[in-house]
Amino acid sequence: MNIQESYDTYRKRLFQQEETVEARVAEHLSVITKRKNLNAFLSVFEKDSLLHAKGIDAKIKKGTAGSLAGMVIAIKDVLSMKGTVTTCGSKMLEHFEAVYDATVIKNLRAADAVVIGKTNMDEFAMGSSGENSAYGVTKHPLDESRVPGGSSSGSCVAVAAGMATTSLGTDTGGSIRQPAGLCGIVGLKPTYGRVSRYGLVAFASSFDQIGPFANSVRDAARVLQVIAGKDENDSTSANVPVPDYLSALDRNVKGMKIGLPKEYFSDVLNKEIRSAIDKKIDQLKKGGAEIVEVSLPNSEFTISTYYILATAEASSNLARYDGARYGFRSSNVSDLNSVYTKSRSEGFGDEVKRRIMLGTYVLSSGYYDAYYRKAQQVRHLIQNDFNDAFKKVDCILTPISPTTAFKLGEKMNDPLQMYLNDIYTVSANLAGIPGISVPAGVDAQGLPIGVQLLGKQFDEPMILKVGDFLENNN
Ligand code: GLN
Repeated sequence: MNIQESYDTYRKRLFQQEETVEARVAEHLSVITKRKNLNAFLSVFEKDSLLHAKGIDAKIKKGTAGSLAGMVIAIKDVLSMKGTVTTCGSKMLEHFEAVYDATVIKNLRAADAVVIGKTNMDEFAMGSSGENSAYGVTKHPLDESRVPGGSSSGSCVAVAAGMATTSLGTDTGGSIRQPAGLCGIVGLKPTYGRVSRYGLVAFASSFDQIGPFANSVRDAARVLQVIAGKDENDSTSANVPVPDYLSALDRNVKGMKIGLPKEYFSDVLNKEIRSAIDKKIDQLKKGGAEIVEVSLPNSEFTISTYYILATAEASSNLARYDGARYGFRSSNVSDLNSVYTKSRSEGFGDEVKRRIMLGTYVLSSGYYDAYYRKAQQVRHLIQNDFNDAFKKVDCILTPISPTTAFKLGEKMNDPLQMYLNDIYTVSANLAGIPGISVPAGVDAQGLPIGVQLLGKQFDEPMILKVGDFLENNN
């Protein structure tokens, strides 16, 4: 059994009854144990996942199994799963037990996927390297001296190292696409509102989206099919019909127009990344697609706009961790003020505190107009840039990150360098559009390079189609 094959390949054997879900879960569990030092999981549901697997094996025999029968899935520890601890990678929620299931988890289980465990992550999803977890860093599966990317570090490593068939992550500014790129797998951020956020612990509510990591574009499409759709528990989930994502994967790009934003392909782009992307562009040309230069003139403002708005939203969302209602409470308190101050000082890590301070500052009365309101206005300009570009092209192709996987510790003392790592990914969250990261080869050191495809709002079929084409035409 090849533990890193796509779900589709494994599914065929399952339905021909050449393999069982139980054996598959056992195999993934043994990889989790063997590669414990990668620190990808915060909790592993050994007994429950094996038990659940047996039940699905019986359903397969009876012919009643769902569309994700036997898919073994890992879940970022920012999503609630009833009766299990949901830490968000923070000491603040070390003992917090979720009281209900996130809609995505309910849907996955109804389709007969097996949840194998909850994965490590940058605290409250703030980070680009997997080094901000209160439970230790997650390491890159191909080179343990390097970062796997973040913030969905554990979910990405779980799939890249064969600890699960697929996984769920969240993407507020790149946290699915960037690690997928650095680890050489597929990562999909759907359109804002495409997937219900009910049961997702909020970081920046106008940006957050849930999406899959997978070993193939097709597997990502299968997961999206099950988690997408309107949910009455999330008023921001979109009431837009869910198309058949699998039927979009026809591997035909003839006549399609693919945009290359000139601002993303300047001379500063790393040469190896540029040449890997050029190969993908050639593939598209050979397939009959037309390559068109487009402009996203406000690209230079994306990082500052994102880090103003996301921190503002975070400072408000994280106000609920006050030491009084739930979560960590300092034992060293004397009055109400010290409950707040000490619980928050001891419960949050450095990066989370930095974001709360930045966010509080940009929202404070003297600075609101200069920073927060201005950033809201620039967000509109960035959205308009994409609207204009999509009048000319069907989808946009860009790099995923400025470098391949960097060394552990390399950017930890320089937050600005860490933030700059998100330069190619945050624009999709600012505009609310879907994006996918697809493998595009390796650099001279054998480290993966990813390519990003961006689509119009709700046009996941388009980026999945182009991604599937790129994956299957070398
Ligand atoms: N790296 C970005 C940040 O730190 C994005 C995080 C995310 O997408 N959750 O905010």
